[in-house]
Amino acid sequence: MIQDLIEKSKKHLWLPFTQMKDYDTNPLIIESGNGIKVKDINGKEYYDGFSSVWLNVHGHRKKELDDAIKRQLEKIAHSTLLGMTNVPATELAEKLIEISPEKLTRVFYSDSGAEAMEIALKMAFQYWKNIGKPEKQKFISMRNGYHGDTIGAVSVGSIELFHHVYGALMFESFKAPVPYVYRSLSGDKAQCRDECLKALEQLLIENHQEIAALSIESMVQGASGMIVMPEGFFAGVRELCTKYDVLMIVDEVATGFGRTGKMFACEHESVQPDLMAAGKGITGGYLPIAVTFTTEEIYSAFYDDYEKLKTFFHGHSYTGNQLGCAVAIENLSLFESEKIVEMVAEKAEDLYLLLNSLQSLPHVGDIRQLGFMCGVELVRSKETKEPFPAEKRVGYHVSLKMRELGMLTRPLGDVIAFMPPLASNREELEAMVAIMKEAICEVTNVEL
Ligand SMILES: *Cc1c(COP(=O)(O)O)cnc(C)c1O
Repeated sequence: MIQDLIEKSKKHLWLPFTQMKDYDTNPLIIESGNGIKVKDINGKEYYDGFSSVWLNVHGHRKKELDDAIKRQLEKIAHSTLLGMTNVPATELAEKLIEISPEKLTRVFYSDSGAEAMEIALKMAFQYWKNIGKPEKQKFISMRNGYHGDTIGAVSVGSIELFHHVYGALMFESFKAPVPYVYRSLSGDKAQCRDECLKALEQLLIENHQEIAALSIESMVQGASGMIVMPEGFFAGVRELCTKYDVLMIVDEVATGFGRTGKMFACEHESVQPDLMAAGKGITGGYLPIAVTFTTEEIYSAFYDDYEKLKTFFHGHSYTGNQLGCAVAIENLSLFESEKIVEMVAEKAEDLYLLLNSLQSLPHVGDIRQLGFMCGVELVRSKETKEPFPAEKRVGYHVSLKMRELGMLTRPLGDVIAFMPPLASNREELEAMVAIMKEAICEVTNVEL
């Protein structure tokens, strides 16, 4: 039976972001989960060290979440949001607006973070047309940014590898630098921040008349290696957007819902986005719901008689799905009753100390963390910061070793991403960091 399933998976499946040749040598099929662990079909257990790719909040099989779905299922699983709404989608909208930055008053649902970003881009683009400034059609995006894998989202992303493969399909955008302190010449946070802000301002001075919006991840660039922005940078970007009349699209897909120790990471610098995309943790990691938030000002620019053609022409089959919205509502109740955000902020300090124990390893170049969003950058030489040769795939081999030792994660190049479920307790965090340490030592041939 087990072998049979594995054969089937190799025969018929094509997995996302996976070289299937790698999968064929290292197949893995998850069967169940409980708390912050998942179990495969052989009965082997793993810590969910990456929250099932940055989603999970309360652990798996959280009773309250399971029950919320069952209760909703007694009523209806899904009906459309085109031209009408449903009960949980409506209730959830109010709750989302309550917890989001105050300027945001409207939510537009979709099913994934990439879609939430596409929607933000299209809204920003059409907003200027609708208010009679059609010359504002271009975007500024950030170097090393990541916003998902659909064409629009990749266009404003800037992971080199993706552009190398799909570049010809993309629309162009202006690229602005984001401080990567560890790899900057000076290594000085303030200097690095000021240089990047200066470059952005120059870009805006020259081009703002044709720029609709700037897109940026909130406080941390996740997929490019958990690069945490130095203090003041994010707020500085907000100021420049305002000064040059450019909308600010903030991507909170990874950072939203408590991940960084605030409900939304933009709260760290009191930034009010014009558009904000969220997803991932919104349902506690249960079902595919995503959301684009916007301001009343932008919403009003679309509100008119139909003949004016100001309607936002966008929607998906499963938009506003009741099961997803019902579990999202329960998720937000748990955030309140279990004080998840406060707990993350508190436990992040323990986590900081735990991760610090890796600092002395000879191939650990940099450790970055904001709340429960962490990355450990491995390098060949600590002194020169020289990376390992890419073809060695050190990050990949470390994550395979971690899997063997009982913990799942996915590397970002040679950055080991550590994104435990927000409910992880101290002992669990300790056990996971110990596995990470052992795997790094084994793969880089260092005595523990
Ligand atoms: C994961 C992610 C996305 C894409 O979300 P999907 O649900 O995978 O489409 C977008 N932006 C950021 C910052 C992300 O981490």
